[in-house]
Amino acid sequence: MSISIHPSGGRSGAVRPVGEEIRVRGLVQGVGFRPTVWRLAHDCGLRGDVRNDSDGVLIHACGDVWTVEQFLARLRAECPPLARIDAIERHEWVSVAEVDDFRIVPSVDGPVQTGVVADAVTCPACLAEIDDPANRRYRYPFTNCTHCGPRLSIIEAIPYDRANTTMAAFAMCETCRGEYENPAERRFHAQPVACEVCGPRAWLEAPDGSALESSSDACAAASLALQFGSIVAIKGLGGFQLACDACNEPAVARLRRLKRRERKPFALLARDLEVIRRYCTVNDVERGLLQSAAGPIVIMDVASAHIAPSVAPGVGTLGFMLPSTPLHHLLIASFDRPLVLTSGNTSDEPQCIDNADARARLGRIADVFLMHNRMIARRVDDSVTRVVLGAPRVLRRSRGYAPAPLALPPGFEETPAILAMGGELKNTFCLSRDGQAIVSHHMGDLEDALTYADYRRSVAQYLTLFEHEPRAVALDLHPEYLSRKIGFDLAQARDWPLEEVQHHHAHIASCMAENGVSLDAQPVLGVALDGLGYGADGTLWGGEFMLAGYRDFIRLGMFKPVAMPGGARAIYEPWRNTYAHLVTAFGWDGFAKRYAELELQRFFAARPRDMLDTMIAQGVNSPLASSAGRLFDAVAAAAGLCRERVLYEGQAAVELEAIVDERTLRDEDDALAYSFGLAHAGEAGLRCIDPQPMWEALLDDLLRSTPAPMIAARFHKGMAIAIVQMIELLVDELIDHGSEGSNAPYTRLNVRAAAPAVVLSGGVFQNRILFEQVAGRLAEAGLRVLSNRQVPANDGGLSLGQAVVAAARRRAP
Ligand SMILES: [Zn+2]
Ligand SMILES: [Zn+2]
Repeated sequence: MSISIHPSGGRSGAVRPVGEEIRVRGLVQGVGFRPTVWRLAHDCGLRGDVRNDSDGVLIHACGDVWTVEQFLARLRAECPPLARIDAIERHEWVSVAEVDDFRIVPSVDGPVQTGVVADAVTCPACLAEIDDPANRRYRYPFTNCTHCGPRLSIIEAIPYDRANTTMAAFAMCETCRGEYENPAERRFHAQPVACEVCGPRAWLEAPDGSALESSSDACAAASLALQFGSIVAIKGLGGFQLACDACNEPAVARLRRLKRRERKPFALLARDLEVIRRYCTVNDVERGLLQSAAGPIVIMDVASAHIAPSVAPGVGTLGFMLPSTPLHHLLIASFDRPLVLTSGNTSDEPQCIDNADARARLGRIADVFLMHNRMIARRVDDSVTRVVLGAPRVLRRSRGYAPAPLALPPGFEETPAILAMGGELKNTFCLSRDGQAIVSHHMGDLEDALTYADYRRSVAQYLTLFEHEPRAVALDLHPEYLSRKIGFDLAQARDWPLEEVQHHHAHIASCMAENGVSLDAQPVLGVALDGLGYGADGTLWGGEFMLAGYRDFIRLGMFKPVAMPGGARAIYEPWRNTYAHLVTAFGWDGFAKRYAELELQRFFAARPRDMLDTMIAQGVNSPLASSAGRLFDAVAAAAGLCRERVLYEGQAAVELEAIVDERTLRDEDDALAYSFGLAHAGEAGLRCIDPQPMWEALLDDLLRSTPAPMIAARFHKGMAIAIVQMIELLVDELIDHGSEGSNAPYTRLNVRAAAPAVVLSGGVFQNRILFEQVAGRLAEAGLRVLSNRQVPANDGGLSLGQAVVAAARRRAP
């Protein structure tokens, strides 16, 4: 926080009015900031006014200097829960004579800065009201105030006031209006303010749309249905959800079958921490996340196994959240077990947000619908987080986080406005300008037609909501990405220039940006490990070591490229990767001779080997990929996990991580780890991690019938050591190049003779064991490690990276 002070007079005996103009910057609009200022000014006996404008909040305060000091101290201490003060600037205010009171002045028009904020979980004061039989909002499911409730999920246009939200359909009653207009009330200018008399209402209905016996308390009735094993479709804050009793295996299994979600873990809702602690050990950081205003899903290790086995098979973790709205509180208040709470959709479609659509799409899944009549303006999924190495990390950034702006590092203040389109899977897009980046809520996988339509709509909405006029559009290089196609069309139609950003460069840049690496800092050593991304040379990349600045990067190393026989089919059928890896490492004959007794050999013998060999040899539908993700798939399949196919993206790697034998992993002796080769490859002579020695040791382990958990541990550890060795080697080379001063191409990126920061990004680093092993060993070696926390390390973070790369390139010289 920067504070510049212009003292305005001393404490003289005479009452000479002095005044200050106080500028407050940060997240200060739409979060109850002005009423707080008003209340504190009254408490302190200040005169003057407060208003919103394009730079934040502007306060005129008239009173002696000590009173103003006291007022500002209290403003910092009693800052509203959803607000964030970034800076306070104070100047003398001259026209003090006319004021005899403290007033809230209506907003001044100007560009919107922070008008659209994230949805926030129910605050303690509102919770107390819905629990209090004497309160007029007792058990009212849409209770909210300035400190909590829906925001992004209900806003349709700017400025953010009631008429521009989906609350416009509900005329406030006398009492609510009184609260809304009274600055002393917690609901002053709370746009979604409502009560039983005037606000939205909830009801229960059958799958055919007929109203069920109108119980006065729909939440209690839905709760009862859940107790009896029903699947209930719930209209939540940002979309429909499907719920069932998480301890009722037949109910959970039925939900899986009907929803066509065979194995991907379900999220859980629990009444309170006490319930969660029966299943997971919750540390302080996890507790903080669960209870935060964002209220995300937190993925934690399973401590006891009393949950239905179908909830989260094969992963060793559970994802819990606490109730985020009064409706959820009321639903689960009398439930002492967790509920499965998953998105209301079939397989990979976006969740429903509209009542009629929900009846049509969820009618064959849900036994009962808990409906309400407040429209959802946009689909906002639950956010997902995990604590790794003591830090909260966002894996899916949506409800509660989006669209809060992220502050960009020094150097980006003057960069032009950018629209970055993001990737293909787990898509988000990003608007950046004036040193800030707004990353959209989670869109999902654009391959799905409904998601794709939603994405197009959302891009247009964000441009309007944030009055964003891009000076360039940033795109991924992949010719097949739909985000690229839309970005391209948009740019053509509006005559905006394009900036193409390589996938893994964007991963590294996203991590640099959120860690405050300034625009002109020395380049970092980036390690981007993921499934696949389109490389600058037109091949598929996914295990990349690069020297990276914001504008540019140089590829220094990679995992040895291996064919993906069948192309996209190799993503869903892990055994194809195992086959390609083994043929690359030993040749079929070499493998067949040496490992004749292996069950794996019989498995491959029953496959169309001739066809695969031809595809690989001729490069037909068999692209080479330096992918770390595919290596994980290959090893998992060799060890007998998900060999035939995966049922969700990343399943093989997730289940391989889950079985890792802790004792083998923690053993001080690194000799147990599989070793990898380090070689040069390709025309450019890139450094290359060669898994051949690892395969030899792994297959020997299979011959000896070594248990899979031990194999998984030796692989994870070996992979981490290989990555760290590669990094240390590259760091040494970079320091040498830096000291020589003139060695092209490094000079292009201004390398200096100092160890660069090491940036770890890409979806593979969401493997906690691999990340902890790599980061821990790098820290021991004295290297500075940066990793993603605020945006996902997976493709959900790409758009931020694209935005900063494009902004850096287009900054006026
Ligand atoms: Zn509240
Ligand atoms: Zn009312």
